[in-house]
Amino acid sequence: MENQNLQAFLDLQKRIYHYKSAATIMSFDASTIAPIGGSAVRGERAAFFGLEMYKLRTSDEMKNLLDALLPIKDTLEIKYQAMLREAKKTYDKLTKIPGELVAKHEQLQNDAMDIWQEARAKDDFSLFAPILKELIALTKEMLEYRKEEGKTAYEVLLGDFEEGMSIPAYDAFFEDLKKVIVPLVKKVKEAHDQPVGDFIFQTVPVESQRALGKMIAEKIGYDLSRGYIGETAHPFCSGTDKYDTRITTRYYEEDFKASFYGIIHETGHAIYEQSVADGLFGTNIDGGVSMGIHESQSRFYENVIGRSKAFWECMIEEVKTFLPETFADKNAQDFYEALNIAKPSLIRVEADELTYCLHIIIRYEIERMLFQDEIEVDQLPAVWNAKYEEYLGITPPNNAEGVLQDIHWSMGAYGYFPTYALGSAYAAQFLAYMKKEFDVDASVRAGDFAAIKKWLTEHIHQYGATYPPRELVKRIAGEELNAKYYTDYLTEKFHEVYHLGE
Ligand SMILES: [Zn+2]
Repeated sequence: MENQNLQAFLDLQKRIYHYKSAATIMSFDASTIAPIGGSAVRGERAAFFGLEMYKLRTSDEMKNLLDALLPIKDTLEIKYQAMLREAKKTYDKLTKIPGELVAKHEQLQNDAMDIWQEARAKDDFSLFAPILKELIALTKEMLEYRKEEGKTAYEVLLGDFEEGMSIPAYDAFFEDLKKVIVPLVKKVKEAHDQPVGDFIFQTVPVESQRALGKMIAEKIGYDLSRGYIGETAHPFCSGTDKYDTRITTRYYEEDFKASFYGIIHETGHAIYEQSVADGLFGTNIDGGVSMGIHESQSRFYENVIGRSKAFWECMIEEVKTFLPETFADKNAQDFYEALNIAKPSLIRVEADELTYCLHIIIRYEIERMLFQDEIEVDQLPAVWNAKYEEYLGITPPNNAEGVLQDIHWSMGAYGYFPTYALGSAYAAQFLAYMKKEFDVDASVRAGDFAAIKKWLTEHIHQYGATYPPRELVKRIAGEELNAKYYTDYLTEKFHEVYHLGE
C-alpha cells in the first residue's frame, strides 16, 4: 500500500478488532456456559476491554490519522472511504459527550436493568418509574452535546440505530402500514375460516428439536464450520467476524416452533455476517450495516421463506422425520396455516407476522411523545394500555404483560424498536426484487436455498457496512424504503391463509 497513513489506519482498526473479538467471545461465554461464581470478575474484565477499545477509538493516533486521511478520502477505494466515515462517526460520538456522563449512563443502565427485572417480576411499575425518569433525563442531557442541525433529540437517537431515518420518514412509513394492517387484522379476526393450530403444541423431545434445528440451519445456508448453535433464554446472534458467527436458541418441549423459528431467524443474521467479503475482514465495516438491514435478513429467512407455503411443501416430509408419530397425518397446508395464525396478542416477541408491526408502532409513538415532552413517565402505563386498545383491541391485564415487557427502555435503547418494523418491510421489498430475477417459490419448493443466499450476498451481504443502509437499498433497484411491498405481501398472504375474498 502506497499511503503510509492508510496502512497505519488499517493497523489501528486491526488492534481495535482484536479487542472487540476478545470481548465478543467473553460476552458469548458469559451468556451461555460461564459459571455464575465468576460474574463479578467478568464484569471487571469486560469493563477493561471496553475501556481499551474506547481509548483506541478516541486516541490522538486516531485523530491524527483521520485528519490526514479525510481530506484525501475521495481519492481512495470505496471501502476505505466507508471505514473512514465510520471511524469519524464513532470518534465524534465518543468524544462529544463528557466522560463522566458516559460513566454515569453506564452505571444507571446496569442498575435500571436489575430494577426493571424486579419490577416486571413483581408487576410494579412504580418500582421502575424513578430510575426510568433518571435514565431518560440523562439521555436527554447527553443529547445536548450531540445536537445536529435540523434534527430533534429523538431523531438523533433514531439515527443511532438506523442512519438516515427521520421522524417524518418513520411517520409516513407507519401511516402506510397502519392504513393496511389495522383493517386487515379486523378482517382476519372476523374471517369465517379460522385455521387450526393446536396440533403444533405436542411434545417434541429437546434432542429431536436440536437435530431439527441444526438440519434446517445448514439447509438454508448456515456454515457450521464457522458457526455454532448454543442455548439461552433469549435467542441472539453474535460473532467476532465471518469466521466465527454463533447463534443461540431456546427449547420448549411443548412448542417446537419456538426453537425452530428462533434458529431460522438467528441463522438469517448469521448468514449475513458470514457472507461479508474477505477484503473487509478485521476492519470497522466487516459486519452488517444497520439494525434495520440486519433484521431484514433474519425476518426474510424466518417469515418470508420459513413461513411460506413453498417452504412447507418442500420441507414437510423431512421435518416430520424429527417429529413424533402424532404429526403423521398433517400435510404442508396444515403446517402453513397453523404457523401463520394471526391474532392480536399482548406480548411483542410472541406476536405473529401480521400484528407484529402494530406493537412497534405503539412503542414508536410513545417514545416520540416521551422525547418531545408530551407525556411523563408516570403516564406510561395508561398511555400504553390505551394504545393497545386502539390498535389491537385488547388491554393488558397488568403492567408485566404491558409496559414492563421489554428490556429496551431499561437499557437506554430509545429509538431501537422502529428498526424491527423496517426489517420486516425491507424483507418484503427484497423478495419483490428477487422475484424479478428468478422464481423464488420454485427454488424454495425444490429445496434450492443457494440461489436465495447468492442473491442476498450479491446485493447486500458482501458489502458489510460499506454503504449506509438507505444507499444500500437504493443501489439494488434505484428505490428507497417503500412500505407498499410489505403491505401487499401481508395482504396477499393473509387473504390466502384466511381464505378472504376481495
Ligand atoms: Zn433479529
